Amino acid sequence: MQNKIIKKVIKKDKIKNWINELMKNYKVIAPVKEGDEDVFFRIIKSADDVCMDFQNTVLSPKEFFFPKSEKIFEFEGDEISDSGSKIGRKRILFGARPCDVHGLTILDNVYKGEFNDPYYLQRRENTTIISLACSEPDENCFCKSLGTGPVLCDADIIITDLGDRYFIEAKTDDVNLVNFDIIKEAAPGDVELKDIKQKESEDKITRAIELNKNLDDLHLEAESRKCLGCGCCTYICPTCTCFDVSDESMISKQKGKRFRCWDSCMFPSFALLAGGENTREEKSDRFKQRFYHKFKYYPEKYGKVMCVGCGRCTRKCPVNTDVVKIINYNKLDCNY
Ligand code: SF4
Ligand code: SF4
Repeated sequence: MQNKIIKKVIKKDKIKNWINELMKNYKVIAPVKEGDEDVFFRIIKSADDVCMDFQNTVLSPKEFFFPKSEKIFEFEGDEISDSGSKIGRKRILFGARPCDVHGLTILDNVYKGEFNDPYYLQRRENTTIISLACSEPDENCFCKSLGTGPVLCDADIIITDLGDRYFIEAKTDDVNLVNFDIIKEAAPGDVELKDIKQKESEDKITRAIELNKNLDDLHLEAESRKCLGCGCCTYICPTCTCFDVSDESMISKQKGKRFRCWDSCMFPSFALLAGGENTREEKSDRFKQRFYHKFKYYPEKYGKVMCVGCGRCTRKCPVNTDVVKIINYNKLDCNY
């Protein structure tokens, strides 16, 4: 059954009061400014730390569901104990941009269903998501062409900046999260203004990626020549799912811990096998793999591309590798 949507508004100067109310019952993860302009998701200790005025965070909130490094279990002889890190009380992810919320639905396909990843799933199930719709998308954003932003997403609550107040759309299930005196019922004028603001935001996105391209026609080998193999594009991507597993053990006592940490298909050792064979020894093969996985293999299996158009990889690549430019390559405009 479709959830009824509750429509409310909150004055901007009351948003911190709302977050304080949420913090009484939840661990709250929210955007925090560090330095002059970089914003990161952090578990907040005070609502005063929350930054509401940013384009997008440097890293997506993926690491709060799939940490960069985590202990999976400890072992002693044949005995396994302590099944990984615990997340404790219920959490709210506050202020995630729509593209990053879509990023989590892409991770869901990998970690839920065919294989169930208990560490990821317990975090996902224990977290309510309050998304902050974009009002000033970045020049590298191309979410609109993928249907992953700049407003709509599968969050529990979506808030939209109306100028002096925020519009709040919540599913009925989450009514308690918006049931405070400082949050008022929305008037028809608020709904109208919200639609205008959302349309304005969509109109600001001018970049678009072409879908259903034949990747064999692209010049991935030529593009790979400038790649440094640093892996930055994969580490900052909200949809990359690969990890490596290693043991830290005391052989004399036959005990230790098993960890996993993010890995990158751009690293030479990624496809190195135990016998010394490397199935992607050449940099160009690793570069191609990233594109084929995101724009061919994943869509063949799950029906959508493994990219949400956040633009982070383009923004941060030290040699300006641009995913949109590479995918949209047209033989007629060939510069190679
Ligand atoms: S960020 Fe750029 S240079 Fe680094 S691995 Fe990715 S494409 Fe190569
Ligand atoms: S734009 Fe780049 S970083 Fe963002 S989801 Fe797509 S591939 Fe990942």
